[in-house]
Amino acid sequence: MSENEGSLTRRIAFVNPNDLDLTDCCRICKCRATVENGIKLRPLFNGRRLTRIIANTVHIEIKDIQGLPRFLCEKCLNILKTFSIFQVDFRRSEEEFKMAIEARRTYQMDTLMEFSTAIEMEKQRENDQKNAALVTNFLKKAKKTSKSKSKLQN
Ligand SMILES: [Zn+2]
Repeated sequence: MSENEGSLTRRIAFVNPNDLDLTDCCRICKCRATVENGIKLRPLFNGRRLTRIIANTVHIEIKDIQGLPRFLCEKCLNILKTFSIFQVDFRRSEEEFKMAIEARRTYQMDTLMEFSTAIEMEKQRENDQKNAALVTNFLKKAKKTSKSKSKLQN
């Protein structure tokens, strides 16, 4: 930025409230639009889109108050656009990270559940086998006893 440019874009200082015309400057940075500095002002209250973007990004509600600037300079508009995109991107990334963590957690829970179910099934099968063995043993013993009993009886 050249020295000249710097002085041209310098903000107006609110010194004497009586000799101020607040209407022809940027509502955000207070810069004035003159033929010399080439600053272009855009209408701020042309629809609700801009004021909504400002409210969403910087959490400041700009109201159309009589006597206050109804414009926004292009420099501030660009900063606002960049900031808005930055914020939307950042929010989206955060959402996606949260979803990824949640998905991972759910996946781990599912895997854990599958694992514990598999262990339960294995235990059940072992129990069944043990029970079957016990029954078989019992039956064998019962047969033997009845044989020996019948032997004794003979
Ligand atoms: Zn501005």
